[in-house]
Amino acid sequence: MDLLNLIGGRWVEGDGEEFADTNPARPSEVVARGRFASAAEVERAVAAARAAAPEWAASPHHARAAVLVAAADLVDAAAEEWGAELAREEGKTLPEAVAEVRGSARILRYYAGEADRESGEIFASPRPGENVLVVRKPIGVAGLITPFNFPIVIPAWKIAPALSYGNTVVWKPSSLVPLLAYRLAQALTSAGLPDGVLNLVYGEAEAGSAIVDHPGVDAISFTGSTAVGRAVIARCGELGKPVQTEMGGKNASVVLADADLDHAAEQVCLGAFRSTGQKCTATSRLIVASPVADELLERVAERAARLVVGDPLSPGVEMGPLVSSAARDRVTSGVARAVDEGAKPLAGSSPYNGEGWFVPPTVLDLPGTGVDFWRTELFGPVVGVVRASGTEEALGLANLSDHGLSAAIFTRDLGVALQAVERLDVGVLHINSESAGTFPYVPFGGVKQSGFGPKEQGRAAREFFTHTMTVYLGAPA
Ligand code: NAP
Repeated sequence: MDLLNLIGGRWVEGDGEEFADTNPARPSEVVARGRFASAAEVERAVAAARAAAPEWAASPHHARAAVLVAAADLVDAAAEEWGAELAREEGKTLPEAVAEVRGSARILRYYAGEADRESGEIFASPRPGENVLVVRKPIGVAGLITPFNFPIVIPAWKIAPALSYGNTVVWKPSSLVPLLAYRLAQALTSAGLPDGVLNLVYGEAEAGSAIVDHPGVDAISFTGSTAVGRAVIARCGELGKPVQTEMGGKNASVVLADADLDHAAEQVCLGAFRSTGQKCTATSRLIVASPVADELLERVAERAARLVVGDPLSPGVEMGPLVSSAARDRVTSGVARAVDEGAKPLAGSSPYNGEGWFVPPTVLDLPGTGVDFWRTELFGPVVGVVRASGTEEALGLANLSDHGLSAAIFTRDLGVALQAVERLDVGVLHINSESAGTFPYVPFGGVKQSGFGPKEQGRAAREFFTHTMTVYLGAPA
């Protein structure tokens, strides 16, 4: 499959370097090929987005919504096929991949629905005959930079609100997952998106920086690692450019002594190993109350050892490979470092020797919180465990992180659950369910080193993709 960049409504080959999109389960298999956009093409993409902006912003919200709905229908119709492509290029299992594609259609529809919801506010005025309106306006050209781990749903949750609220877009997807980017752009153009409203440029860090730096791009929405996100925030600060970043996590699941241990073990494993642990909200720290620790860990280790690892397209496979050799090396060396620092593997100690970027689901009994593993996001199927004497200590340990994306707590005690709501410094909290998982109609995003700027999804997205204008609407004299 040959992939093309989308610039000003034309599909173009790209003047930059050639790239090959490979299957992480069978790295010799090329899924798709293409060429990155050159610096001049990124310039053209920004110029096209600027040129298209006034007309798109002025078009009725319902006309913009109609394009999103038509695109959602196309995405849904192709969900099985594109899900298989997603599994082949990224490595998550087929059922998860198909669900992700369908999830992106749901997001397109949600933001189409914005046309039917209130679009501003009206206040009274102390002056006779006057009203004060607060209206919403698009921010202009949005530069969107997306990560590899959700190749279609994360782009959809940026592109859909950007377009619905009347912005035009220059989008750089992760170079690891170009095929699903192509599919989403295809759906939107086939649905009737006018030329230049969405521009897709393939590239790596350089293309991302060029978009961030470009004076023709009015605002940046980035999702990816904390290191890159912080650099993007710093650059946008220098340029005075609005920026929204969703970044890494080191998410804790807390299992208290009164929890249903079978349920907690199952959910901890889903949180840690689904999508091969390549979720920003994946569980990578497990804090368990000492009295039930042995019982819980036996269940978690047993479930991890039983997990079926293999080709994501094969029926019954529960966990695929990591996305790349670099990801595999990062995870295996992180596990080795933890073991050097005194961690005891309860599951997954032996490396995988076959083809593909596989690692085993791994459970590490940590010697304490002083180890590097406690602080560093590995972004793989590895969970490290510590014990806590009770609720107070467990919640303190959950907060003992520079990150603050998501957490989960397992308890039957409503008072303790409410205490967790009060105490935990995270953007997303699950009570009695795994730390990952999000609905498109409620805010999503992290605090501390996990997020910066307005949240994504639901109506929260409006805070980033629009600005308000306050209108003092007086009666004519
Ligand atoms: P990443 O390496 O930070 O890359 C993210 C995107 O930024 C990619 O498109 C990447 O391009 C681009 N990029 C790299 N350097 C850049 C630079 N200097 N300037 C501008 N753009 C640049 O992250 P990833 O490995 O794709 O994704 C995994 C990370 O994302 C994890 O840390 C995960 O926790 C986080 N994440 C967070 C959320 C959230 O909502 N909080 C959701 C998903 C993932 P190339 O890779 O093509 O070079």
